[in-house]
Amino acid sequence: TALVVAMDGPSGSGKSSASRGVARALGLRYLDTGAMYRAITWWVLREGIDLTDPGMIAARAEEPVLQVGTDPVAPTIGVDGVDVAGPIRSAEVTAAVSAVSAVPEVRRRLVAEQREIIGAGDIVVEGRDIGTVVAPDAQLKVYLVASAHARATRRAAEVAGSTLEAQRADMARRDHLDSTRVTDPLAMASDAVELDTTALNLDEVIAEILRLIKE
Ligand code: C5P
Repeated sequence: TALVVAMDGPSGSGKSSASRGVARALGLRYLDTGAMYRAITWWVLREGIDLTDPGMIAARAEEPVLQVGTDPVAPTIGVDGVDVAGPIRSAEVTAAVSAVSAVPEVRRRLVAEQREIIGAGDIVVEGRDIGTVVAPDAQLKVYLVASAHARATRRAAEVAGSTLEAQRADMARRDHLDSTRVTDPLAMASDAVELDTTALNLDEVIAEILRLIKE
């Protein structure tokens, strides 16, 4: 049976770098489900759909067609043939993604697509609800955590022109929005291994996950 590694946790926990590193080390595919929610959000903004109108977002949730790459060395994402790998990291998309990802029709659609991609073979999948909803049968579920300070520091280093305080405020806002919706994708699966990355560097996090996979 195919190897599925589920990597969940909040933003700034080191999920993306760790997931890509593990996939590279083992020659597995890699799926960034956050990029899929961001891609739909980019499209919603481009279409001028009112973010405060979940009914409209729901009604059009099936319209955009996503092109999702699974190479951990060079992850790609497109919407209707447009490369959106850069734009989905913009402040505008980041500010809007919690509202769009809270719409059940959006989640239903993307979870189905994610399961299809996962079904094609061995893969490392990162997100918020992978161990709980998308791939509850994953062989290994890792839930990454880190102190608020460590998370904000990592995000500030990733986002050009941003400050530690701005990142801390933005993450607190998104954590709150992400965890207070009905589906609560931030919940940790009961069979997940919690890994605190606060005091670890990337190589140490990857080594620990590789050790868990071999167990
Ligand atoms: O991981 P990333 O920060 O790129 O995710 C962006 C947003 O997408 C999260 O803040 C969350 O609202 C949403 N998301 C989600 N479920 C996932 C992955 C991401 O709701 N599996």
